[in-house]
Amino acid sequence: MSTTLSAPPLGLLLEDIVRRHRPRQDAGSVPGNIPFLATVPFDRFGIAVATTSGEVFSSGDAGVPFSIQSISKVFTLAMALQGGRSAALWSRVLREPSGTSFNSLVQLEAEKGIPRNPFINAGALVVTDHLLEETPDAAAQLLRFLTEQAGNHAPEPGQHAPFIDEDAAAGELAGSSRNLALAHFLKDFANLTQPAGVVVENYVRQCSIMMTCVQLARAGLFLANDGQGTTGRVLAPSEAKRIGSIMLTCGMYDAAGEFAYRVGLPGKSGVGGGILVIVPGQCAICVWSPRLDAKGNSLAGTAALADLSDRTGWSVF
Ligand code: GLN
Repeated sequence: MSTTLSAPPLGLLLEDIVRRHRPRQDAGSVPGNIPFLATVPFDRFGIAVATTSGEVFSSGDAGVPFSIQSISKVFTLAMALQGGRSAALWSRVLREPSGTSFNSLVQLEAEKGIPRNPFINAGALVVTDHLLEETPDAAAQLLRFLTEQAGNHAPEPGQHAPFIDEDAAAGELAGSSRNLALAHFLKDFANLTQPAGVVVENYVRQCSIMMTCVQLARAGLFLANDGQGTTGRVLAPSEAKRIGSIMLTCGMYDAAGEFAYRVGLPGKSGVGGGILVIVPGQCAICVWSPRLDAKGNSLAGTAALADLSDRTGWSVF
């Protein structure tokens, strides 16, 4: 794959990124409503790059499973767009940056129950409801999708295939008043067909899927590869392009502009500290470091991606 001439080979570059960006002190925050995330050591840092030519490079804690949280929203959107019912979905959720935090209630009330985009919580609840119209368990369907896209092969000794951490999900559900409030708002505006509690419970289980950087980079490859996944076509090229566009404009919530400025690539973060980034035509990158900035995005992960894009020249601009 082509990088700038001055950059070292990718494997060495990733090792250097880990050396430079692995946190040495406990700065940043963890979300207060998800007890499991507070138990993750602050100095975890991993990065993996899966290329469209079929190679995977990784460094640091790239084989350690972490909670994917909102990165799940990219994949549930992809699943929703696979079904041939995308017109129905797009009548219920917009594709505009929100400029508000991922779990904000204010905009949803002002805009009469139509979420700004599928990557804020309200939008993901609508996507979940849309999926639940056709499957009893969208989280289980998501797990199958991710496992297949991650390569489905037996993980290395001591490693797990992707799994739902049901205890972490139960812990988050107990602190989900805000997501329940969003779901009840949606219901009141007739933008939810299932009961609010059912949708939130399923959504929280999607967020509690545990995967490694290597698995997530592989799973996201179809977005960098015109919709072509590890085991065949996932989406039409135009749909893959559109998901990339929504990642660029909405993937980092109210920090989407800042992330586009610093990294110049479509990305999707989760409050577990993971960020999935797409370099169209070249690779998918997953970085993970658990401590977050004020907008809920990985502090060290964002800095590492800015550094990596500067040093490789990878950018959509
Ligand atoms: N499960 C989290 C929530 O709903 C996901 C948020 C995130 O990763 N930004 O609050």
